[in-house]
Amino acid sequence: MNTSIIGYPRIGNLRELKFASEKYFRSEITADELEKAAKEIRSYDLALQKKSGLDFIPSNDFSYYDGVLDTAFLLNAVPARYTSLGLSELDTYFAAARGYQGEKGDVKALAMKKWYNTNYHYMVPEIDDDTVIRLAGTKPFDLFSEALAEGVKTKPVIIGAYTFLKLARYKGSKTASDFIEQTAAAYSELLKKFSGLGAEWIQFDEPSLVKDMTADDIQLFTSLYEKILADKGDVKVIAQTYFGDVRDCCKELCALDFDGIGLDFVEGKKSLELIKSNGFPKDKVLFAGVVNGKNIWRNNYAAALLIIDELKKHTSDIVLSTSCSLLHVPCTLANETKLAESYKKHFAYAEEKLSELAELKKITESNSPLETEEYRRNAALHSEPRSGRNDAVREKVAALTENDFIRLPAFAERERIQKERFKLPLFPTTTIGSFPQTAEVKSTRKAFRSGEISVSDYEFFIEKKIAECIALQEEIGLDVLVHGEFERNDMVEYFGECLDGYIFTEKAWVQSYGTRCVKPPVVWGDISRAKPMTVRWSKYAQSLTDKPMKGMLTGPVTILNWSFPREDISLKESALQIALAIREEVLDLEANGISIIQVDEAALREKLPLRKSDWRDDYLDWTIPAFRYVHSGVKPETQIHTHMCYSEFADIIRDIDDMDADVITFEASRSDLTILDVLKENNFRTEVGPGVYDIHSPRVPSKEEIRTAIDKMKERIPAEKLWVNPDCGLKTRGNAETVPSLINLVNAAREARNENC
Ligand code: GLN
Ligand code: ZN
Repeated sequence: MNTSIIGYPRIGNLRELKFASEKYFRSEITADELEKAAKEIRSYDLALQKKSGLDFIPSNDFSYYDGVLDTAFLLNAVPARYTSLGLSELDTYFAAARGYQGEKGDVKALAMKKWYNTNYHYMVPEIDDDTVIRLAGTKPFDLFSEALAEGVKTKPVIIGAYTFLKLARYKGSKTASDFIEQTAAAYSELLKKFSGLGAEWIQFDEPSLVKDMTADDIQLFTSLYEKILADKGDVKVIAQTYFGDVRDCCKELCALDFDGIGLDFVEGKKSLELIKSNGFPKDKVLFAGVVNGKNIWRNNYAAALLIIDELKKHTSDIVLSTSCSLLHVPCTLANETKLAESYKKHFAYAEEKLSELAELKKITESNSPLETEEYRRNAALHSEPRSGRNDAVREKVAALTENDFIRLPAFAERERIQKERFKLPLFPTTTIGSFPQTAEVKSTRKAFRSGEISVSDYEFFIEKKIAECIALQEEIGLDVLVHGEFERNDMVEYFGECLDGYIFTEKAWVQSYGTRCVKPPVVWGDISRAKPMTVRWSKYAQSLTDKPMKGMLTGPVTILNWSFPREDISLKESALQIALAIREEVLDLEANGISIIQVDEAALREKLPLRKSDWRDDYLDWTIPAFRYVHSGVKPETQIHTHMCYSEFADIIRDIDDMDADVITFEASRSDLTILDVLKENNFRTEVGPGVYDIHSPRVPSKEEIRTAIDKMKERIPAEKLWVNPDCGLKTRGNAETVPSLINLVNAAREARNENC
């Protein structure tokens, strides 16, 4: 059995690509130097994969920012507002990714969205009626040739035609089906070019096939591939799916002239069942995703072998693969120097997953698989009892009843009580929580962590930053203040550190978007609150101002979704354990005089199952209650805010209302405030602060621009329910753009307020 991976992390073991790109953005290095850094990462990863014995080594899984954006450039689907800036090719690309504000113009970035059910974000391609899709770029060919020059004939990886057309946003009257001919022609030409270069296998990533598909979708998919595969020459094509199963299009997929089909046997609930009932075409290779590409636990070979044995009954041509691209796991355990061996031996990052594939290959090739050294070692590891059990927590979770999830009095009554209490002006202004994490903040935290400065010096520093942050917000004139979140590195790790049951990695970075990476903590055991988490900072902050100070917490669903979860208990059980802990903190904040508490659920929608039929049972039925439990114990006059980012939550809008928060702020600016119509149609009850500008871009929004956003909001939502705020936390921004942006925001809100009076 050969082995394959769908893609490898591209940021480099120590995030070299991030640092090089950011230097390039600051004009500290040239484009050539950036390219050199990127090439070094690619060469290193290539050599590593070759050495591991991997049979199908991917290329073009590298990207400077995002693979979907790369595909848009490859296919000429780039809005004129970027190409007309007159920038270099690389800078045009970065302008689309990050926005551009400079002597050549002022444009916002493309919209960004979550990649299926992951915490990776892709750039949404824009297609308008004038777009002409054609093969316009050379990157996949260049990277194939680059690897070939290093002695490896790779398997180029490209986002497939169907997925690309499904992910794009159509600005004009045309839709995906109007672009079938052009798109198919572009992909055909791509295959021909690869054939000319000597490529053997090409992988088209088609994760959209695991979503619910309508008859039109299936038609779109088959029309595209009937054309693309019609004369593919001597290259072999894999339809690679992941994040689920292909139950809606299984027949069509198998009937098309693909040479290989990649299926996910980890998240694909029905993958095995589909093969058992339909069989698998004899003329195709099955790329079987049996090694989890999303989690960091060591593969359980016994479980993998069960799947493989079952598959062998239906096909003889199997390639062992990962369930999805390894983009979603950190690079290597080699840099985890602090983590105890007792934990580490249970982990497998990308590099270790390569050796798992090699071991599985060896095991499956052996005459007595269960006797192999590799199998035995793995079986022994998985039979070890797990530490970290907490019976008290388990009992509390088991004892929860329906009333525990209901906050009283009901929303309208609370809204009245709170309006009376806070007496905020119309269009109250606030921010989402974090203020810029400047170099000073980061270096001081680093010094504290390495023991260079004492606890008291560090705490003194944080208090100083809080005081500065409050003075700044008062000067700018914001209505509801925040303490700035200087004590945190990110919104999950900090809480994890105050909770028992969590463990932490040192270098387990995973790309979130562009140059941004996250380092998810690991849920190891049962969770409980070890100590108050934010109380001292919020209390201190409130003591410095008469304005309301928002307490700032992360919600249970987000904490869980942004962690590497356990696989030995259910996600629901883990979420409720975390909810118990966050509720204790909420009540503690309230008892300490904090009158507004924001519980961020930035990642609530992230793990919503990709198929609608799984939404309730598999997700909403426990995530929404977990959030409700966090705040159901507060007084009516305590105002609960929540925040969500990057979500398309139109389809779960009622569930969001049902979280029963008093106020919700969310990302809206990049999606052109389209969510407002949905709020209006659904008579959304919760007060709302749709983000009036995009904090993911360094550009400063003008007062007029924000005014326009407020006016749009006003048209659809009663003024008394509206808040004015940026679309997410400001931690990734610098003070240089944050201060003028917030001044413009406050002035725009004041102007709107005056006009309304
Ligand atoms: N309160 C958090 C912050 O401002 C929210 C971050 C997020 O939504 N990702 O940083
Ligand atoms: Zn956010």
